[in-house]
Amino acid sequence: MRIVLLGPPGSGKGTQAQRMEKRYGVPQISTGDIFRKAVAAKSELGAKVATYLDAGALVPDDLTMSLVRERLAQEDAERGFILDGFPRTVPQAVGVEEILREHGWELDAVINISIPTDVLVSRLTMRRVCPSCKTIYHMVDHPPGPNGLCTVCGTPVDVRPDDNVETIKKRMAVYSAQTAAVVDYYRKKSALIDVDGGAERDKVFDSIQKALEEKRRSRERRQ
Ligand code: ADP
Ligand code: ZN
Repeated sequence: MRIVLLGPPGSGKGTQAQRMEKRYGVPQISTGDIFRKAVAAKSELGAKVATYLDAGALVPDDLTMSLVRERLAQEDAERGFILDGFPRTVPQAVGVEEILREHGWELDAVINISIPTDVLVSRLTMRRVCPSCKTIYHMVDHPPGPNGLCTVCGTPVDVRPDDNVETIKKRMAVYSAQTAAVVDYYRKKSALIDVDGGAERDKVFDSIQKALEEKRRSRERRQ
């Protein structure tokens, strides 16, 4: 199963990608997570990307591409993957096609989670993340346990540093300016599955599973 998951910040990509990873047994590859981990580890990559993340700007394409190329060459990606938050620009979408070709792979689906903009800001300011197991919470819809502890592993949950109103607005603007075109790119190739991200998380996951199942059946009918 090889999937690209698209959607604006706050659409629930990360939450759904975590569920898909469990359900389909293929790794979730989140460029955002990889960059954040590098920043936390104070690695060479971290030093290069920290200013972009803090500003809510995109990391340059060449750096992002070489990182994804390396990640997809790892053994666990052979069985498949869920690309979460990548590609985010049209050049990245073209670049990933080249990598897929090199491996002799094809995408099974591109899923676009859409959601009204006004919901996004409140979702992001309400978001908390477990720094240890990465479980994603929402202070109202899906709160952590007592004293703000992760219900999965007991670690105190955090606010992501880029989830402040100013940086959220910048990320939305970047999405409209650069990432919305990626949605059109895949729509033109008729590869896109649209999912309503406004529903609660279980419902969104149901729609994704149904759409993937439908896609699989229609592929089998064609063969
Ligand atoms: P969100 O979708 O909520 O903004 P992500 O975790 O996907 O969160 O991304 C966080 C940040 O990481 C982005 O604002 C950007 O700086 C960087 N980033 C993530 N993926 C990419 C990418 N494919 N290309 C460039 N920058 C990226
Ligand atoms: Zn946890």
